[in-house]
Amino acid sequence: MPPSQPIRAARGVRDVLPGERAAWAQVEQAAARVARSFGYQEIEVPIIEPAELVERMGEDTDVVAKEIYRFQDRGGRWLALRPEATAGVVRAYFEGGLQAGPQPARLYLLGPMFRYDRPQAGRYRQFHQLDVEAIGDPSPALDAEIIELAAGWLNALGLRDVRLELNSIGDSRCRPAYLRLLQDYYRPHKEKLHPDCQRRLETNPLRLLDCKEERCQPFKARAPRVTDHLCEPCQEAFSEVRGLLDAAGIEYQLNPFLVRGLDYYTRTVFEFQHEALGGAQNSLVGGGRYDGLASALNWPDTPAVGFAAGLERVLSMMKREGEEVVPAPAAGLLVLPAEPGLSVAAAQVARSCREAVATAVDYSERSLRAKMRAAAKAGARWVAIFNREEGARKVVQLREMTSGEQAEVAWADLPERLISS
Ligand code: AMP
Repeated sequence: MPPSQPIRAARGVRDVLPGERAAWAQVEQAAARVARSFGYQEIEVPIIEPAELVERMGEDTDVVAKEIYRFQDRGGRWLALRPEATAGVVRAYFEGGLQAGPQPARLYLLGPMFRYDRPQAGRYRQFHQLDVEAIGDPSPALDAEIIELAAGWLNALGLRDVRLELNSIGDSRCRPAYLRLLQDYYRPHKEKLHPDCQRRLETNPLRLLDCKEERCQPFKARAPRVTDHLCEPCQEAFSEVRGLLDAAGIEYQLNPFLVRGLDYYTRTVFEFQHEALGGAQNSLVGGGRYDGLASALNWPDTPAVGFAAGLERVLSMMKREGEEVVPAPAAGLLVLPAEPGLSVAAAQVARSCREAVATAVDYSERSLRAKMRAAAKAGARWVAIFNREEGARKVVQLREMTSGEQAEVAWADLPERLISS
């Protein structure tokens, strides 16, 4: 790139500018509030993890391996930027000794995730997730709890056009037989399937069910349904989850095509979708039970359930539904020295007011008129104006911008005055 080009952001990432940050804070605070109200505690895990850890998580290996930001550090170790948080959280649960504490460990995390995907609307290379996990308890009631938590959060954000889809994909007892049935059903049609599906038929047949290709749809529609082939305990677990959701007044639709492609996912899978999110990007929240993950990472066999929600998508749907969050002005009070050479006094006035209200100084050398215009534009509630003579007397003209009311106030009385009005 020629040296004269301004340096721009990497492809597929975005900045959160101050004007958007208020909406982000609202989404994050609601997540923390709702998660805590269910007894979940915050956890943070590193953004870099051993590549091996995140690669064990990859769906359909050859596809997702390409999505992982993988690099060698200076010591020659292979690391990856986390593409999701679950594997890291499970690792931390064991390494941090949480398995010796009360079970399940109820945990939530907010943070950036990284996937080297083709950037498009609703799909970024750095994006943010709310991740919620309950580790160490096989009870189906926890599946319902996790779903209720997600629903509570989306509801707190005022999102209305959200649909919950639910399925069960069985476990290591009943799924192998179902997968053979699925393969037997699809094999005679193999030549007519999309090349990806031809490959899935052999490597990962469950993924045939979430194929979006037009030419595979007729076969999908007639495919045997996993919920017709669950073993007794899986059936019971599924009906318990459904009963609990009914009791909680949470509506859902059964979707026999909703799946996860890896062996360690078991039983409940769910997704919250938004009507307005089109095509492949229609998912706001994806989750389910993953009783086999801990042992896939070579830790003791431990049941767990959780979900991940995409914050960018949640925010764009809030905006679409008109849930506009008005950012608070950066400063409630702007100190406007009316003549040059008053910076020391202006800084002193500001220092004394900050306990009462967020305060900034306009240090520029433009005219007082221009400073007033800028203060109005910035949304400040008050301005404190003073010239050299007023500075010497340690007073300002305190003006309330909307009413235009103005009065002389001594520096010493400013904090009190700002708090009381
Ligand atoms: P997943 O971990 O793939 O189940 O994704 C969970 C949620 O994260 C999805 O429902 C999306 O809301 C969000 N998400 C996944 N990938 C991306 C991406 N590349 N850009 C933005 N959001 C994403």
